[in-house]
Amino acid sequence: MSVETQKETLGFQTEVKQLLHLMIHSLYSNKEIFLRELISNASDAADKLRFEALAKPELLEGGAELKIRLSFDKDAKTVTLEDNGIGMSRDEVIAHLGTIAKSGTADFLKNLSGDQKKDSHLIGQFGVGFYSAFIVADKVEVFTRRAGLSAAEGVHWASQGEGEFEVATVEKAERGTRIVLHLKAGEEEFADGWRLRNIVKKYSDHIALPIELPKEHYGEEKDKPAEPEWETVNRASALWTRPRSEVKDEEYQEFYKHVAHDFENPLTWSHNKVEGKLEYTSLLYVPGRAPFDLYHREAPKGLKLYVQRVFIMDQADEFLPLYLRFIKGVVDSNDLSLNVSREILQKDPVIDSMKSALTKRVLDMLEKLAKDKPEEYKAFWKAFGQVLKEGPAEDFANKEKIASLLRFASTAGEGDEQSVSLADYLGRVKEGQDKIYYLTGESYAQIKNSPHLEVFRKKGIEVLLLTDRIDEWLMSYLTEFDGKQFVDVARGDLDLGKLDSEEDKKAQEEVAKAKEGLIERLKGALGEQVKEVRVSHRLTDSPAILAIGEQDLGLQMRQILEASGQKVPESKPIFEFNPSHPLIERLDAEADEDRFADLSHILFDQAALAAGDSLKDPAAYVQRLNKLLVELSA
Ligand code: ADP
Ligand code: MG
Repeated sequence: MSVETQKETLGFQTEVKQLLHLMIHSLYSNKEIFLRELISNASDAADKLRFEALAKPELLEGGAELKIRLSFDKDAKTVTLEDNGIGMSRDEVIAHLGTIAKSGTADFLKNLSGDQKKDSHLIGQFGVGFYSAFIVADKVEVFTRRAGLSAAEGVHWASQGEGEFEVATVEKAERGTRIVLHLKAGEEEFADGWRLRNIVKKYSDHIALPIELPKEHYGEEKDKPAEPEWETVNRASALWTRPRSEVKDEEYQEFYKHVAHDFENPLTWSHNKVEGKLEYTSLLYVPGRAPFDLYHREAPKGLKLYVQRVFIMDQADEFLPLYLRFIKGVVDSNDLSLNVSREILQKDPVIDSMKSALTKRVLDMLEKLAKDKPEEYKAFWKAFGQVLKEGPAEDFANKEKIASLLRFASTAGEGDEQSVSLADYLGRVKEGQDKIYYLTGESYAQIKNSPHLEVFRKKGIEVLLLTDRIDEWLMSYLTEFDGKQFVDVARGDLDLGKLDSEEDKKAQEEVAKAKEGLIERLKGALGEQVKEVRVSHRLTDSPAILAIGEQDLGLQMRQILEASGQKVPESKPIFEFNPSHPLIERLDAEADEDRFADLSHILFDQAALAAGDSLKDPAAYVQRLNKLLVELSA
């Protein structure tokens, strides 16, 4: 090896140190995956070179045949992986093999528990990669040179996977990257042709460029050729170009891990070749779990874009709407030009029609998953349901389809589990029910016994219980499903339509008339606090309730707006009372106006508390209540 110059020792970013330590221990039971990760990187490097060479063919330096070579030395206990892809410059080496660029990494690492089993799952969703080499090696060396730089600008990187690494400038004749793993004592099994061959077949068969190993040599050692003969051990064709019937599930799964940089299997996938006016192939996957950075704005999203099998870009996010940003996969177009850029993608009408077709594919795939594999759909809903709920607002055309994929907790469901679909709900509606009823709130525990549900319980009508932060906002876009309107049971003057009989309605009107005097007195006592006072038809056990005005913001939206520092328009609740409740009867009979006012305020505050709201003047509430208690005991 040639001389090293400009040698320096640098420390790993703190996050890398933590990750290295954890990974070595928690991924140990699955250690052979290090090879998959390194091959995946080599394949990405070849893709990047091919792409850059479209504009600058000289980058290929005459050698256009891209490949990966894997070799080993039993005596030296090394495994060497060499590619002739894009390579790295010195700065790139320091950035890529010394830090983790993903935003939110530090927070993510805080969640690790030290429990190896749990952590290995967490690390799986984080996706390590290059650093997995340290699972089996106690020293890793990288020799690399970026395509286009001179042979004198090669880089040598070396580390023992502890706190630091060395970089130096070296001579490197061929472009690309060579990685030498110095195996740990006990890991010598990897310096073996059969072992390596098997791992490649198992995890990397789908890699589109040839992975070569030295041909196994039988017979006398002295007859062994001086130069190894190389032999391709993988299939070496782009997986998505093969007919569906010829691709095994395991191959689809391994390919997913490569494109998604995930360690775990996807839940499902959809592979399609489209011919006709537009020609493209897509392979779309639903991941098994949410990545740690699902809600980070800069988190990677989008598909890997190929044009006629040539890699063009990662994270092409023009092909799917934002609410499907968790989908991973590949799209390979025959219509786009090879020099397509992000700017062009954003304007090209071809992209719009591909986007709507791909969106439909994803929604169909989810529908099929829900139908055929309910357990997997549950896992999907848990991981990505909240993201899917952004759909009705973003994608008007597919609103109904998205709505059918939503799952809710409900008064007829199993506890707080979000498992009820709108189709389930409609299958259970009562005779004469033409609405879909729901209630929003902060948590299941908080609303499951809400007074708003009393009349529904009495009549045996199901109510959806929506407690995700996004729900009230979602419902402002979701107005009907299958021709039935959604109705917030805490809002407006609840009209149960045909669910109330003519006699019910008549009786209600009579009561309202009879209580006009009480209504006026309550209005006087509650004054500015309420928009309106009226007799309630929705209560059986509670004395009073606060309803939200038809057009007013609900509690959840108010809280979101307040938290984001926005000015929330003032809105007053409607005070509804239950005329047959003993407390209301007692109130009606109260001749002392002061005590009447105290009682009214207590009922009002209690109704606010029951709705999950906080009191504007909690001290006044406590004072009034205590005053009453004292009178009672006197
Ligand atoms: P990821 O592949 O998810 O980006 P890795 O840890 O596997 O993460 O790799 C980190 C980065 O190091 C890659 O994104 C790439 O920029 C660089 N890299 C790794 N291996 C190679 C290689 N063989 N050739 C060129 N660059 C590489
Ligand atoms: Mg990688």
